[in-house]
Amino acid sequence: MNDFPIDTIREDFPLLKAQVNKTRLVYFDNAATTQKPVQVIDTIDNLYRNQNSSIHRSVNYLSGKMTEAYEGARETVRRFVHANNSREIIFTAGATASINLVATSFGEAFIEEGDEVLVSAMEHHSNIVPWQLLCDRKKARLKVLPVNDIGELQMDQLPILLTERTRLIAVTQVSNAMGVINPVNEIIRQAHEKNIPVLIDGAQSIQHGQINVQEMDCDFYVFSGHKVYGPTGIGVLYGKEKWLEAMPPYQGGGDMIDRVSFSGTSFNVLPFKFEAGTTNYVGAIALGAALEYIEHIGLDHIDAYEIALNDYAGNALRSIPGIRIFGDSKMKHPIFSFLLENIHPYDAGMVLDKLGIAIRTGTHCAMPLMEHFGIDGTIRASMCFYNTKEEVDRFVEGINTVQEMFG
Ligand code: PMP
Repeated sequence: MNDFPIDTIREDFPLLKAQVNKTRLVYFDNAATTQKPVQVIDTIDNLYRNQNSSIHRSVNYLSGKMTEAYEGARETVRRFVHANNSREIIFTAGATASINLVATSFGEAFIEEGDEVLVSAMEHHSNIVPWQLLCDRKKARLKVLPVNDIGELQMDQLPILLTERTRLIAVTQVSNAMGVINPVNEIIRQAHEKNIPVLIDGAQSIQHGQINVQEMDCDFYVFSGHKVYGPTGIGVLYGKEKWLEAMPPYQGGGDMIDRVSFSGTSFNVLPFKFEAGTTNYVGAIALGAALEYIEHIGLDHIDAYEIALNDYAGNALRSIPGIRIFGDSKMKHPIFSFLLENIHPYDAGMVLDKLGIAIRTGTHCAMPLMEHFGIDGTIRASMCFYNTKEEVDRFVEGINTVQEMFG
């Protein structure tokens, strides 16, 4: 933890210097969205000032430069997730859009009445509702892999839940509500023994360590730019080429076509087949800048720093009297979900905000998980590599103040 250049890194993020309620902001809501380094902010500023032009379509100089940068960003994403080729990288509006693309397009081609899709009980609503809509449409069945008391997947149930009708498993690599890391390699191994493809929701894993979709052997991997220090409104769908080739187009429009005629339309090749309309090319290029920034710091360094921060914060929180932590697994990232005895999460959130500490309260878009624990919501503090031990100390002091006020 000591040799990590934390001071230099924090200088890169202007918003970390903000004052909230006359005190220095402690930003612990990184699972909702991350702050942006100047490298990303300047990329966006520069593109709109000096280079803006629509990609792929025009012969003009600026369009050529923009197209080059956009396809360069696709290559950066490919390298970052270690995909085999850039045809397997589709730019979307975010993780939600990527999952909806797969649910609609894969669902159209491969799900029939009586088939089954398996999700887990800890999924974000984005990885539940698109599958519910699909299952309703196709008269298919959505099945659920349960979690245990400490919020880990009940892996012993997996072989029982996989049947000859299972057509897809969609599971998160890291729980946004608890930080628990799921054994996705084992899930994929068991699924592939039965020829079942697996979609991994990487919205909470892409920012915490090395992702290698080829080693993982997942069939789909999705994430959002804004959770990995990039802009909002941009995300990625990685899909194995064999699936993307076999899937019908999702949305129709410009760029995704080869020839359009009233007698019939033919479609563009991958990845353009799934990128209808004017895409968020500025967002994609800025996402590329965010990934390059992280590569520059080094994912292994980030991972090691966050593990140390997770241990430090975990120990500090566990020693607080009257705290109940959800998802206190050994395998986790520094996302902490908890309740304080006799204190409503919202009250705690309000007081912490007054102390300049930004956390989140509520169900974290994971109502079924809250239902499993029999609670209405939690307090969630989510940290990342620009957070510090000193901020954790301020947070713990803040919780003490909350307890003195309400306890
Ligand atoms: N999955 C997980 C695990 C998430 O944490 C989130 C965002 N909280 C999403 C999916 C959806 O991401 P977005 O809203 O950026 O599409």
